[in-house]
Amino acid sequence: MDAEFREGEPVLLVDKKGRHRMITLVAGDVYHLHTGTLPHDDIIGEPEGTTVRTSLGSPLLALRPTLSDYILKMKRGAQVVYPKDIGAILVLADVQPGDRVFESGVGSGALTMALLRAVGPTGRVLGYELRDDFARRASRNIEGWFGAEVGSREVPLRLELRDAYDGIAEEHVEALGALDKVVLDLPEPWQLVKHAELALRPGGGFVAYVPTVGQVARLCEELDGSRFSMVETLEVLHRTWHVKDPSVRPDHRMVAHTGFLTSARLLAPAD
Ligand code: SAH
Repeated sequence: MDAEFREGEPVLLVDKKGRHRMITLVAGDVYHLHTGTLPHDDIIGEPEGTTVRTSLGSPLLALRPTLSDYILKMKRGAQVVYPKDIGAILVLADVQPGDRVFESGVGSGALTMALLRAVGPTGRVLGYELRDDFARRASRNIEGWFGAEVGSREVPLRLELRDAYDGIAEEHVEALGALDKVVLDLPEPWQLVKHAELALRPGGGFVAYVPTVGQVARLCEELDGSRFSMVETLEVLHRTWHVKDPSVRPDHRMVAHTGFLTSARLLAPAD
């Protein structure tokens, strides 16, 4: 996308101190911040990477947010999966264009957006979320990113208000065909192991994100007694660096813990 900023799209504004803000462009609207006001019209029609100035002369760099920027700035219902973990989940599950993916819970929709982007317009994501308020928040977030409605060709997501522990509905699997991947971010992923066995094709991938070791142990126990194999668990440590001559060193602070990722592959049924 090399076009100028258009009305309706999200823009990331970065100030002199490196602080990030995100706004959605609306013609005629004015953004208020402590360093002055900024008419959205000053950004609409400008190319990406433009520096605009507030009424008090403070510079703001305007860029299209990356998916990671968007996820960290969008409104949240449930706690999102951090971009560092999203990257690993996509690789561990080997999510690719055309994949049919089951995901639960949808939460704020962060992981869902990354899945949708990875499966592309020929893929499908089936998402189950327990809470109506979270599902609505997720839909708004997803539509704000893709600029199209959930369920459209650009956003091939079927979002269902359901308890995933009850299983993946047969009618949903019938509509999709056998699933390629199951990706879980909910408290008791072991409750879905049997259901995933039924819905996935042989060779299909399973990835679950859980915050505590007890959950990992319980999940691995369930996977060990199942048709899944190649079970692996890892965590992603993401340490940023301070690089400013002459001081080049790791930053003092980091997000020390988010969650563990457990992945597995489904074997063919024994004869
Ligand atoms: N991955 C999401 C965050 C999910 S938070 C994101 O990146 O934005 C966990 C979500 O699981 C919550 O929204 C919670 O409501 C939902 N959840 C918990 N138990 C569930 C269940 N049994 N079935 C479906 N969703 C469930």
